[in-house]
Amino acid sequence: MSPGARPRETGAPGQLSQQMPTTILNADALLAAWERGASQPPVRRPLILLSVAWPDVSAEEWAGAGIGERDERLFALREVLFGPDFETIAACPRCGERLELNFRTADICPHRSGNAVGETLQVQMSDYHVEFRLPNTHDLLAVENMESAVASSAVLERCISAASCGDAPLLPSELPAEVMEAVIEQMAGVDAQADLQIAISCPGCRHEWTMLFDIASYLWSEIEDWARGFLRDVHVLASLYGWTESEVLSLSAVRRQIYIDMATG
Ligand SMILES: [Zn+2]
Repeated sequence: MSPGARPRETGAPGQLSQQMPTTILNADALLAAWERGASQPPVRRPLILLSVAWPDVSAEEWAGAGIGERDERLFALREVLFGPDFETIAACPRCGERLELNFRTADICPHRSGNAVGETLQVQMSDYHVEFRLPNTHDLLAVENMESAVASSAVLERCISAASCGDAPLLPSELPAEVMEAVIEQMAGVDAQADLQIAISCPGCRHEWTMLFDIASYLWSEIEDWARGFLRDVHVLASLYGWTESEVLSLSAVRRQIYIDMATG
């Protein structure tokens, strides 16, 4: 699916937003996804996870989904894999106190307003008229080696399909700052999921601020921890019982845990 094209299949991005993964990932599949993603740049990793969890949509197709939509599916996958409870640490930027944040998926995962990626959005401000779409992973991949300030405006310019002042066509880079701001604001309003900010208040000094929560990197680091722990278990059981890796992998999670408890208890 090229950027901007409408999704086509039942399982494709843009539909079934509440659906759980079509495959409940087994340990083997998750381990393979982790292995594939480990050598890839971070922005590609969520695409690999989603294409394994929803196998009727390829990673390439996921790259064409809006970031909010991608993240909504990542939340759904995360809930299946690790449950709805999140725990993260933030440091107060004023007094340095370390805060433990606990929340659930439902607390921070807003429902998208249903705009499909590829749908054209518009901003009209005095004589300026801009047509644009929501950013997707293709856009993030295109700017992955740029510095963040340059990268954000490059993403924005990629998403603008037409800009004009009166009858005169403009390049995106020629638009005044306040028009660009209006475009960003509308993108954020339509795709709130793509830019999740958590409001935090420091109990020590009462400073209040917001922190960006990135489900893609959060989930990836959880999978990484899980994979390393899992491989340690395989190592323990394989060494103790003389089993092969695939024999250990074929155990159910319950049995594996019982053997691990006996081996390490
Ligand atoms: Zn503080």
